[in-house]
Amino acid sequence: MHSAMRQCIFRKTCNNSLKIAISMLDVVKYPHPVLRHESRPIRRVDKELREIVRTMFELMYNNSGVGLAGNQVGLPYRLVVMNMNPDARDSRDEIVLINPVILKKSGHEENEEGCLSLPGIYAPVERSANVTATAYDLQGVERKYKATGLLARAFQHECDHLDGVLFIDRTTARDEPELETQIIDLEREFNAARSDGAIPDDDAIAEEIARLEKLRT
Ligand code: ZN
Repeated sequence: MHSAMRQCIFRKTCNNSLKIAISMLDVVKYPHPVLRHESRPIRRVDKELREIVRTMFELMYNNSGVGLAGNQVGLPYRLVVMNMNPDARDSRDEIVLINPVILKKSGHEENEEGCLSLPGIYAPVERSANVTATAYDLQGVERKYKATGLLARAFQHECDHLDGVLFIDRTTARDEPELETQIIDLEREFNAARSDGAIPDDDAIAEEIARLEKLRT
């Protein structure tokens, strides 16, 4: 596939006759507006959703991540994939969260986080140490999770994504000049890509988000 088509879902050239162009999904980078979108619950689990999830896992593994939320691939759905041991790519370690809800949090823990949508940026974030959550799986069955450590952190980081919140909003190092510089660099890259016509304007993105919401939420 031609590289210019990679991010087609949000490119001006996108063929709107496609419902969801799963093979064209890619990780979107800060400050893409879809990362600030509050995603809506998914209404059904079907073959297309399973294909989307498979593609999200592949993108996550290829980028060495442990978690990826729907809007990070341009899909405004309450959907998350996670694997705390991504190098092994073992399907038994894969966690799919559909419409996750965090029910209970306790304790506090500060640790460094990173995000596939903010490549190269790492910063400390204080999170709850323990999390109880529910989510539907790919069989449409509601499951309960009790998470600690990295998994608890991933639950909170990914559920934040679904609400349009990024870890840089929560970092205790927000005023560090180095972090600010890194964030500004990403904004520059994004604006340059937009000037080149690689990323549509905000109105076109909002239209595409609305179209995708109609399909599955
Ligand atoms: Zn993230």
